[in-house]
Amino acid sequence: MGRLIIEGITLWIIFQVLRGVFRGHRRSFEAPTSSLAGTSQMMVQCHHCQDYIPADRAIHARGHTYCSEEHRRADGSA
Ligand SMILES: [Zn+2]
Repeated sequence: MGRLIIEGITLWIIFQVLRGVFRGHRRSFEAPTSSLAGTSQMMVQCHHCQDYIPADRAIHARGHTYCSEEHRRADGSA
C-alpha cells in the first residue's frame, strides 16, 4: 500500500516536470513571433477600398495611402 502511494507521487512529479517543460517550450516558441509582429508589420488602410495592407507594400499619393497602383489611379480620376 505504501509503495503505491510512492509510485503515485513519483508519477505526479514526472507529470509536473513534463508540464513545466511543455510550457517552457510554448513560451519560447511564442515570444519571437509576437515580438516580430509588433516591430516590423505596421498596417495601413487603403484610401480607396478601406483594406488593411502592410506599410512597406503601401503606395502613397496626395497625402493618402493605397493598397495598389490600380486603386491610386482609380481614386485620382474620381
Ligand atoms: Zn485598395
